[in-house]
Amino acid sequence: MKKIKKILIGTHNIGKIKEISYLLNKKTKKISPFQLNIKSPIETGKSFKSNSKLKAKYFFQKSKIITISDDSGFCVDCLGNKPGIYSARWAKRLGGFRPAMSRIIKLVKKRNKNKKKPNTRAKFICSLTVCFNLNKTITVAGEIRGKISNKILGKNGFGYDSIFIPNNFSQTFGQMGKRKKMLLDHRYIAFKKLKKKINTL
Ligand code: IMP
Repeated sequence: MKKIKKILIGTHNIGKIKEISYLLNKKTKKISPFQLNIKSPIETGKSFKSNSKLKAKYFFQKSKIITISDDSGFCVDCLGNKPGIYSARWAKRLGGFRPAMSRIIKLVKKRNKNKKKPNTRAKFICSLTVCFNLNKTITVAGEIRGKISNKILGKNGFGYDSIFIPNNFSQTFGQMGKRKKMLLDHRYIAFKKLKKKINTL
């Protein structure tokens, strides 16, 4: 079957645009909402899945172009899976990702104070949706588990990358090379599932 010729990457997050572009077929023309002057929708969903669907449908409606959108976030076990779907909003409220990462480290240390077996478990979750038209959307999910580092480490990546060490690794996402992280993370895991469902992707 012929590959999708043109796709809108429905997000304003530069880190996500880069990762999703890298995963898509080289021949597919990739468009971002910046090029079409489309603003982001308000994320009213209560789950990653509903927000990724909401975004994909919204950007499709605005552009009439097949759209791929992601809703993702960082979930810290001992903080009741916070910041979760509010990951971007948390950082905004605290004045950026550095303060948000420092806050998480501080909260995790506080929760684990005097604990014999500290719980530093965390995970990234991603829900990816492709919207072909308003009646046809396909959604998949991916997650990667790991732990919180005890300080901010590494300058690569974006968002919460510099405090997350995936299981079976000793570096944070922020310390890894970009390609290594991209071919390992929650978006990649979700994307592989998507490709199995959509052979034109
Ligand atoms: P949203 O999906 O636009 O609501 O934003 C998701 C937020 O989760 C991003 O702004 C980041 O803070 C965080 N996030 C999602 N994926 C990643 C990742 O791969 N690395 C680091 N942070 C991420």
